[in-house]
Amino acid sequence: MGRVIGNVNLRSIVAIVAVELMLSSQFGCASRRTTPPESKPAPVVFDSLQEDLKKPYATLFETAAKLEYSESQIRAMREYLTQAEDYCVGRFKDQSKGLDAQIDQKQNALKAAGVGEEERHNLHCDIQNARILKSEADVIAGHAIPVAYDNKQAKLDVIQKWPAELQAIRRSIADGTYRSRRWGDVQDIGFRKLEPDQKDDIKLGREAIRDLKQSGMMPKEVEDEAVVSYVKQVAQKVAANSDLLVPLQVTVLNSKEINAFALPGGFIFIERGLLEAADDESQLAGVIAHELSHAAARHGHKLMVKATIASIMYQAAQVAAMILTGGVAGIGTYYAIQYGFYGLGLTLNLTLLGVSREYELQADQLGIQYAWKAGYDPSGFIRFFDKMATSEGYVNGVSWFRSHPPFYQRMVDAEREISYLPKPEHAIITTTDFATMKASLKKVSFKADVDSKKRPSLISPEQSCPPPSKLVFEPDQPIETICSSPQIRPAPALVPR
Ligand SMILES: [Zn+2]
Repeated sequence: MGRVIGNVNLRSIVAIVAVELMLSSQFGCASRRTTPPESKPAPVVFDSLQEDLKKPYATLFETAAKLEYSESQIRAMREYLTQAEDYCVGRFKDQSKGLDAQIDQKQNALKAAGVGEEERHNLHCDIQNARILKSEADVIAGHAIPVAYDNKQAKLDVIQKWPAELQAIRRSIADGTYRSRRWGDVQDIGFRKLEPDQKDDIKLGREAIRDLKQSGMMPKEVEDEAVVSYVKQVAQKVAANSDLLVPLQVTVLNSKEINAFALPGGFIFIERGLLEAADDESQLAGVIAHELSHAAARHGHKLMVKATIASIMYQAAQVAAMILTGGVAGIGTYYAIQYGFYGLGLTLNLTLLGVSREYELQADQLGIQYAWKAGYDPSGFIRFFDKMATSEGYVNGVSWFRSHPPFYQRMVDAEREISYLPKPEHAIITTTDFATMKASLKKVSFKADVDSKKRPSLISPEQSCPPPSKLVFEPDQPIETICSSPQIRPAPALVPR
């Protein structure tokens, strides 16, 4: 034998199977639905509608008018989605409860007389790994599944309502009334009156950055010159085509979080995870343009009139407590535990970031205008949004998702704005510079992953444990698949990607 690692892995797999069994016996009779919904539209409708709901927004905007689903079929699908979400959330809540029971059982085993040193270590590892799995299950149940289903419902809305919306858009283009919409004067971007005195926000932004650094919550900056200069160049290009009238300060943070945020006064922060998640330059430019719009429209300033700088961040101790007790089922917790850092998305107060429902819609509109003016395909923002909503990344506390207006409204407002903008001949989707940046980024990401594994983690105090397994939640995997066959797979080995 002698294959210790193999034995340990096998043991943890056995433990997980045991949890699955406990789930079905002990926790299978909660008030929520425990069987997949049976009430769904007839297969011929259901299957094709399911396929349509997997399509990107861009495709649905183009094809919705040609789809021939009846109101009652759409209503039946809506009902099905609601029930399916309930069932799916229930499965992961059950997983979480089962892991709780497993932790209790291991903790009791620790109390038994004559527990040897090796057995104690193994029990500690089991508890530690069960806590990690539980946290992941909580994040999936509390955040990822609801978001994925919100997105599906929004796509159903597009199929149902977009054809009429498109008629209205065409009418307003034909009679010219679209020009009188708020900020319809796109030919004057950079010269129109948006918000005066942007420069007054610089002091506030600087103070926030100083506080963030002092609290130890600001991740280190990415040092790779190729990556940093590329991001700065894209951001400056967008800024030069915007209403921002203060100098733009771009910082690239070495954090796995898929996030970007703007502090008042023109300070933009792009996290490494966002660069990893973006598929092309127009997606990146779309997100940067959105963030920059918050600064240009002085959203942070407007929300912060009465707030003090001390109230803009959660305190480090408070965040640590939330993570350790699992109090926040969600945002940032999963990555905090997996990678041993506090997600900035969790620690930054939305007020400071200028995030509110109303301001999100404003930043979407302005961001689309700026990306378009800079020569990008403005639908990059929609594509990135869609990708995040259907994938694991969304779990990860992206600040521009945290206080979201209804998805349907956001996507339709964005598409309407795009319809009003003159179509450029050659809108940029991506560039060779983007591909070059991605190549450099791989090295940065690999090194950061290795370094984070070396660092002792607050939440993983027991050393030399086998890596925790992972609940399967693959990006772009249909949400139904996750719930019909929840599997658990071993943690991936660290290899350069
Ligand atoms: Zn925003």
